[in-house]
Formats: sequence, structure tokens, C-alpha cells
Amino acid sequence: MPSFAFHPVDLPPSVSALRAEVRDFLRNEAADLPAERRANCWSVFDAAFSRELAARGWIGMTWPRRYGGGERSALERYVVLEELLAAGAPVGAHWIADRQSGPALLRYGSEAQCERFLPAIVRGECFFCIGMSEPNAGSDLASVRTRGVKTAEGWRISGQKVWTTHAHQAHFMIALVRTRANAEGTKKHDGLSQFLIDMKAPGVRVRPIADLAGEVHFNEVFLDDVLVPHDMLLGVEGQGWQQCTGELSLERSGPERYLSSHALFVEWLRSLCADARDRTCDAAQQAAGRIAAELWTLRQMSLSVAGQLAAGTDPAVEAAIVKDLGNSFEQALPGRVQALACAGMALEDDTPLARVLALLLQTSPSFSLRGGTREILRGIVSRGLGLR
Ligand SMILES: Cc1cc2nc3c(=O)[nH]c(=O)nc-3n(C[C@H](O)[C@H](O)[C@H](O)COP(=O)(O)OP(=O)(O)OC[C@H]3O[C@@H](n4cnc5c(N)ncnc54)[C@H](O)[C@@H]3O)c2cc1C
Repeated sequence: MPSFAFHPVDLPPSVSALRAEVRDFLRNEAADLPAERRANCWSVFDAAFSRELAARGWIGMTWPRRYGGGERSALERYVVLEELLAAGAPVGAHWIADRQSGPALLRYGSEAQCERFLPAIVRGECFFCIGMSEPNAGSDLASVRTRGVKTAEGWRISGQKVWTTHAHQAHFMIALVRTRANAEGTKKHDGLSQFLIDMKAPGVRVRPIADLAGEVHFNEVFLDDVLVPHDMLLGVEGQGWQQCTGELSLERSGPERYLSSHALFVEWLRSLCADARDRTCDAAQQAAGRIAAELWTLRQMSLSVAGQLAAGTDPAVEAAIVKDLGNSFEQALPGRVQALACAGMALEDDTPLARVLALLLQTSPSFSLRGGTREILRGIVSRGLGLR
């Protein structure tokens, strides 16, 4: 039976200087962020901050120099990301373009598309959103109904997307669209295509959806006969499913999959240290040690996947495990901290710990939904192990 491959990764010595450089930058630029803004920070949109990172070469770090990239290693990029996320830096504006849309363009895009979009992403001037999910197509993504019809002047696209993160602020969407109807005898995964859609094009309407905490990160997107030029088809017509699943594997196992609640852990440790000066709190200290050990294990597993990706292998099963375990960890953390820290503390207290806890208790249920649900990931793992 196949098994998991999690090999330890030794970070090259070159990353120490880079890590110090990022920490220096963050000490000046992100030290005063309130705890609740540091939580889940890869959803926090701040275009000016993204441009500051761009000026330091921290967007598109691994991409070819001819498109403005830094040609640095995947492990160097990992170190920059983990430092940004651990500090709670607001990296949401460029996150999708840097992690997913840019690599998809590099893999499937035409030369003209790469030349147009990649340098703009690297400069922090072009942000992307992901147009996959629809009202009746989430886990069962191949059921998308948004239709694209080829005409002489371009593709005419109509349909609806939902849960589209940052659609109200992004410049372009990579949308999954049905371009050929399901004929008898064909699979529903056939006949799908990906398009680069200008979010300002006539016929694109974005309606924000507020989440439980009242914040707007994701949206409904209505596409009403939107004219998309022929040269904005990404990759091969009809190959959208294969391209899309390749794109999803890029987003599974990074440090964002276990660090979304990190600001809470930091605030809780601070309060624990203050408490420890007055009294002993063995149970909480033991729990903190256990949580730190879990965090470190997840970090080593995630780093191992990054190492395998850098070496050119495709650790799809390991990436799915990291996402599932990482999401379970970051999702459970608010409840664990609440149970340990909240004797005598009201959620409406105006302390950093209370504020970040209140926010994460409301938003953490979504951590195991975005990017593929727990059940879908476990299906991928069991298939990879030959169990289904
Ligand atoms: C914060 C957030 C941000 C998001 N951002 C984006 C975005 O930018 N772009 C985008 O396209 N989408 C985005 N999504 C959507 C996300 O990808 C979907 O919510 C997710 O894929 C699940 O789809 P669904 O909501 O339709 O649920 P469903 O697919 O209807 O699933 C409902 C439940 O049934 C379970 N289930 C479904 N099928 C199976 C099965 N075969 N076996 C066992 N259990 C199953 C699921 O695990 C889940 O628990 C985002 C979601 C969230 C929460």
C-alpha cells in the first residue's frame, strides 16, 4: 500500500539573512497592528502594504526574471510567507495572484498573457480572484453552469459565481466556465475552460456577502453576457478541469493552512506570561506546550511538502493531509483557548485577547471550507492510498 512521504527539510543557510530582513521590515511596518487585524491576515486586503512588499521583491519571488520575478527558491519564499503570516501582516490583496493565479499563468498562459499580467502582479498593481464555486457547484466543481459561447468578436460568458474572495477589489478573475455542453457519453469534467475576466468589463456585477463577523471578504459575482476577448482564454479550451485541479494543488499546503489563528496563540501566551508572574497555572502552561508542539509538527510537515514541490515532485496526498490537519488545528484553537483562558473573561472585554478570540470564534468555522472541505480532502487522501 502506498504511504506518506514526509521527509525532513533543512533550510539552506541563505534563508537566515532573508528571515532577518523580513523581521526587520515587519518590526517597522507591522508592529502596531491590533490583534484582531493580525488574525487570518491572508484575508486582510491592504493594497498599499502589498506594494511595499512588492518593492522588496517579495511577490512573485520564484518567477522568472523576465517577468519581473526574483528566481528565488520555493524554500526562500516559504520563509518570507511564514514570517509575514506569523506577524499578522495584511497580505490578502496579492495573496491569490502570488500563490495561484501567477503560477497558473506561468504553467498555462500564452507569452502575451504572461508579459501582460506577471510583471503587474510582481509590482503589486494587479490583484486576482478565483471564480470556481457557484451556487450549485462547490465540492462538485465540475457541475459549474456558467456558460461560454464563442463568437466572432470573443467569448460571451453568462452565469453566477459565489464566495469569490476579494472579487469587489480584484482586477481580474480566473473563472471556470463550461464551453461545451455535456454530450451523452462524455464526462462532466470535459468541456470546461478557464478565462481571464476583467472585473470592470460591462456585464460583471459584484455583490458583497458579509460573513458572521460582519466583514466583507467574499462576494457573489454575476456575469451577464460578458464579452471576453479570444486571447483571454487561459490554456486550452476544454482542458479547464485539468488546469483547475492543478491550480488547486498549489493552494493546499502552505503556512496559511495552520497559521490563521496564530495571532490568538500569541495574545494568549502574552496573557499567560503575565499570569504566571502572579500564580501558577500548570494546566494552561501544559496546554500551551502541547499547542506549540502541534504547531511545530505542522510546520515541519508543510515545509516538507514545500521541499518536495521545489524538487519537482507532486506530493498531492501529503498536501491534502497538511491542509486537513492544519485547518483542524487553526479551527480548534479558538475553542481550546476559550476553555483555558476565559474564566473571568467576557468576550466583549476590550482586551486584545478578548477581541481576537471573539473574531476567530465567529470566522474559524470557514477555515475548513475554503480551498476544499475536510471530507473532499480525506477523499483525496484515501484515493491516494488506494483505499477507494
Ligand atoms: C472563506 C471562504 C472563502 C472562499 N473563497 C472562494 C473563492 O475565492 N473562490 C471560489 O471559487 N470559492 C471560494 N470559496 C468556496 C469554497 O471553495 C466552497 O465553499 C467549498 O468548496 C465547498 O463548497 P460548497 O460551499 O458548495 O459546499 P458543498 O460542496 O455543498 O458541501 C457541503 C458539505 O457536504 C460535504 N460534501 C460534499 N460533497 C461530499 C462528498 N462527495 N463526500 C463527502 N462529503 C461531501 C462537504 O464536505 C461539506 O461539508 C470560499 C469559501 C469560504 C468559506
